[in-house]
Amino acid sequence: MTQSDFLARSIELAAASAASGGGPFGAVIVKDGQVLAEASNQVTSSCDPTAHAEVAAIRLACERLGDHQLTGCTLYSSCEPCPMCLGAIYWARLDAVYFAATREQAAAAGFDDSLIYREVAQPLSQRQIPFHHLELTESNRPFHEWSLNVDKLAY
Ligand SMILES: [Zn+2]
Repeated sequence: MTQSDFLARSIELAAASAASGGGPFGAVIVKDGQVLAEASNQVTSSCDPTAHAEVAAIRLACERLGDHQLTGCTLYSSCEPCPMCLGAIYWARLDAVYFAATREQAAAAGFDDSLIYREVAQPLSQRQIPFHHLELTESNRPFHEWSLNVDKLAY
């Protein structure tokens, strides 16, 4: 299968989801030329605002590999990933991303993530959802515990 075939599969998943009342997004993760995981948007069906197709596919792929990283894998998404999925893609360390529809096309369909892209660059005090930094004496304790744990699996 070619890159276009995998991308076409993500569009099939997205269209099927949309036709059945789910969000119009699909994603496929490929490793060594084989489909490792595929998913469609599950936000409304699972009452989970983070269940975007890309995140759902990443979770499934990691579960199948028994690994918390997807190095060596490529993500195919029916649409340009949103900022949340962008973060998940970097945390998962995927090799590459291919997408079909653009964020502008998503916005025209009512899925506008430009606000989130703008918010990332805003100072905390100017975000629409206020982020409050309260410095406690214990603030750094989890990192200290992390540094002391010789059994940890670094990631
Ligand atoms: Zn997303």
